[in-house]
Amino acid sequence: MTTAIFWFRQDLRLSDNPGFLAACEDYDQLIPIFIDDNGHLKSQLGEASRAWLHHSLESLNKQLTTFDSELLLFKGVALDVINDICQKTDIDAVIWNRCYEPEAIERDSNIKAALKAQSIHAQSENALLFFEPWQVLKKDGTPYRVYTPYWRQVAQLGLEQPPVSTPSKIPTLPTASLSNVTLKSLDLLPNKPWPADMLSYWKIGELAAQNTLTEFLARSGGVDYKNKRDLPAVVGTSQLSPHLHFGEISPRQIVWQTLQETPLHELDGGTETFIKEVIWREFAYYIMYHFPDTQHEAMYPQFKNFPWLEDVSENLEKWQKGQTGYPIIDAGMRELYATGWMHNRVRMIVASFLCKNLLINWQLGEAWFRDILVDADLASNTLGWQWSSGCGADASPYFRVFNPVTQSKKFDKEGEYIRRWVPELKDLDNKSIHEPWLASSVVRSRLDYPEPMVDLAATRLRALDAYSHVKKQK
Ligand code: FAD
Repeated sequence: MTTAIFWFRQDLRLSDNPGFLAACEDYDQLIPIFIDDNGHLKSQLGEASRAWLHHSLESLNKQLTTFDSELLLFKGVALDVINDICQKTDIDAVIWNRCYEPEAIERDSNIKAALKAQSIHAQSENALLFFEPWQVLKKDGTPYRVYTPYWRQVAQLGLEQPPVSTPSKIPTLPTASLSNVTLKSLDLLPNKPWPADMLSYWKIGELAAQNTLTEFLARSGGVDYKNKRDLPAVVGTSQLSPHLHFGEISPRQIVWQTLQETPLHELDGGTETFIKEVIWREFAYYIMYHFPDTQHEAMYPQFKNFPWLEDVSENLEKWQKGQTGYPIIDAGMRELYATGWMHNRVRMIVASFLCKNLLINWQLGEAWFRDILVDADLASNTLGWQWSSGCGADASPYFRVFNPVTQSKKFDKEGEYIRRWVPELKDLDNKSIHEPWLASSVVRSRLDYPEPMVDLAATRLRALDAYSHVKKQK
């Protein structure tokens, strides 16, 4: 009788899960586990992510029970938890799918070594990415820092990969008394009304993820994606990011199902754009793997001395609360707080505003996003913030300072998005909704809305000056 542990991490699904499939096929008994090691790693989950995780674990357990199995939950240092299980029951193998955050790599290497020393087989598979980061390199053997050539190579290696099958049965649990805990005792749901309201916007778990993909493809799919993806007022993107972060769905499943409707050789512009976005996520993991220091510092050394402003708490709070006086920024920040998610176009606008107009260090923006986003992801969040602040891989050029008013007029022409999230402006006409300070003094006197917190032109020049000095340093 052989027994394995399968350790669920960022792969909270039963389908297209290579590690889980191997564990189900190769062993007589199986212990599916999840370990809450938050607090034992530096990169802790934010509040929104923890709340999502609660429901995702609940959903995964429900699926496992339909196979007469169960997800056993543990809390603590992962190595200690696994050692404890191995001492209490006879374990032949521990299997998981790889994670790529630098700390997770270190943790997993230590666990692998410890298991090897006890002659327990440790096996890891890839369920998170199309390709391992070390498989995609330039001709000279070094990693890419720019997306387009990376994309070309990845597309050439082949993205049309069929998902692996879902196990038809799950081996039974051994009878052993283990130190597992209840979901409630993981205390993932903070005791505040905020996450409960926020979660009402979402359906969580593997089946919900698959439905979200199916609905997206039926709604507009790739075809309309190119036209709609930049309009924050419409549901033009897939909203799969939190499902992808927790591995409720795999990128391979997304691309495979998308290509069932439009084969790769006939790709229309919209579908290709969508697949390219999915590969931006892969690129984010790639950069985090090859340049692990980027999780807490700029990729380029000259940015270490960037003159970020220091006494910023008041301005940071106005930005966080959506009280900047710039409607598109405030709409985005309020959407984020209400739903745990923000449209990508608006993420770029609010991030540029924070780093460039307010000269606030990107890391403070990254930390706020990490706490509030349900899709908070070390790789994509770092890449997004470094892109926006101009200090990372394939960053936006330093002289690109998004003008929130111009962006607002272009991407939220009728002000529909602003009206939804900044209701105090809903009665303004389509011109002054983007620039409430242009409304008549009578109208303005009735508005409970702040004046712009900074002057856009002056702060743009200040940013350009700061950036040009840094850029000159080699
Ligand atoms: P879609 O447009 O439907 O795209 C499909 C999938 O592709 C997404 O679910 C996502 O996994 C991936 N993707 C799309 N755009 C990007 C991108 N620019 N970078 C990396 N992956 C992408 N994404 C996160 O998942 N987590 C984060 O913490 C995060 N932080 C960000 C911070 C900033 C400042 C910026 C500018 C972007 C950030 N993004 C982050 C990327 C992007 O905004 C979201 O992935 C996207 O808005 C998710 O919505 P969607 O699922 O509808 O995307």
